[in-house]
Amino acid sequence: MRDFDPSQIAFANGHFIGGEVVEGRGGDTVTVRRPSDAVAYAELPIGGADLVDRAVVNAQAAARTSGWATCPPRERARILRRWADLMEARSETLAPLEAFGSTRPIAQAGGDVVFSAECIRFCAEYADKLGGDVAATKADNLGLIISEPYGVVGAITPWNFPLIMASWKLGPALAAGNAIVLKPSELTPFSTVRLAELAIEAGMPAGIFNVVQGTGAVTGEALSRHPGIGKLSFTGSTRTGAAVMTAAAQSGMKPVTLELGGKSPQLVFADAPDLDQVAGHICQSILGNAGQACVAGSRVIVQRAVGEALLEKLKAHFAAVEPGLTWLAASTFSPIISPAQADRIDGILARSRAAGAEALVGGARFAEFTGAFYQPTIMTQANEQTPVVREEVFGPVITFQLFDEEEEGFALADHPDYGLAAGVYTGDFARGLRAMRTLQAGTVWINRYNRTGDFILPTGGYKSSGIGKDLGRQAVEANMRHKTVLIDFAS
Ligand code: NDP
Repeated sequence: MRDFDPSQIAFANGHFIGGEVVEGRGGDTVTVRRPSDAVAYAELPIGGADLVDRAVVNAQAAARTSGWATCPPRERARILRRWADLMEARSETLAPLEAFGSTRPIAQAGGDVVFSAECIRFCAEYADKLGGDVAATKADNLGLIISEPYGVVGAITPWNFPLIMASWKLGPALAAGNAIVLKPSELTPFSTVRLAELAIEAGMPAGIFNVVQGTGAVTGEALSRHPGIGKLSFTGSTRTGAAVMTAAAQSGMKPVTLELGGKSPQLVFADAPDLDQVAGHICQSILGNAGQACVAGSRVIVQRAVGEALLEKLKAHFAAVEPGLTWLAASTFSPIISPAQADRIDGILARSRAAGAEALVGGARFAEFTGAFYQPTIMTQANEQTPVVREEVFGPVITFQLFDEEEEGFALADHPDYGLAAGVYTGDFARGLRAMRTLQAGTVWINRYNRTGDFILPTGGYKSSGIGKDLGRQAVEANMRHKTVLIDFAS
């Protein structure tokens, strides 16, 4: 991907309902800014309860009448694959659209498009493979467990990887035969609308994929409470996840999938085979997207014998980072999504310093940008009570803690609230397996960190890090409900 001029990016500023862009005329708006330089570039319409209702009613009608749920499932899969192909074919415009208004540098946004398309293809393969089961009953009965779509799925996505997060919700819901109403983050709203336009071009019936723009407090809340939504899928903070779950419980008992926050440990034992590789994994996990990832490996917990050596390697990596505007091809280090989010990071670090922690490296913003770029930061002298160890920072900040014995390392790795992911580096096979059994996390990586393109591996949290899974067969199944049928042919 080449450098591009952000002022030349075209996008449809509106909702997407019933197969077309719907402009929000005259209503409330929210200003959208480019994270790289804080320049305001759009006034986003805020969809109120009436517009959410219109989108849901439209989606219900499409789910009933378009044939999406009732067509031969391979036909549905074919449309999904065609859609994925179109995403890739339009990468030259889709990737810059993603990059200019988000934290994703253009050099990485192209990969995000491919990753998202591949996720849709993966889910499409399930369209004709999860029909249900025949149950063991007495011979003159036939017991069936039939998989059916919910009708309309409501999805709420965050700003950190707008296209990828949307594809994780869209792929499973649509492959299962549902219609969907998706609310992107108000901070990164436009690439999702382009996805919806491409879906229509691929042959998806109008009304099956709808986008309603707006804030969480207004639009997200209305979507979570709409009685016409059969199932909700959310990715974002644990606090908002709780609000979504409450709204779902109070408005018809919708099932929820919640992919929430994390404070994931990376546990380094002295017998780890290659400390350079370990340092590389740690840096990738916390510097990628400037740490704005739910699985960011933000708590580095190291056996004392290799503590100094690892710290030196991390310091060298952190010092080499060069921030850059997301529309420059050479940029690899992301801005923080908004000044408010950078203020949040400042606040956590200030409270941590007051509690005795020190920023060994970093600890402030890069001064030379109008957008908010945060320095890669290593916090030491922190313990389990320090805010930077307890709270999800969502920035390029690690804490560095030492331990002596294995049990102490496992105990430090365990977080009282979060359990999204964990990394373990060791050359001892049995110790790796003990860690796998002991660590309370939805994903445990051993001698590596971060997801691969293996969409078959589900992702989701233990504890307050979430409920249910994105990706994998489990995600598609979670977008289906199951009907039990018992046929008695004895007489
Ligand atoms: P939120 O959880 O508030 O936002 C995530 C999504 O939920 C957005 O689309 C948001 O809309 C929407 N939302 C907000 N309030 C409601 C509501 N009451 N009902 C329904 N939907 C709602 O995250 P923030 O953007 O405020 O980030 C704060 C922190 O959350 C981060 O610092 C990080 O710790 C964590 N986070 C975790 C993510 C993850 O991947 N697990 C992703 C993003 C954030 P809108 O943005 O339009 O208000």
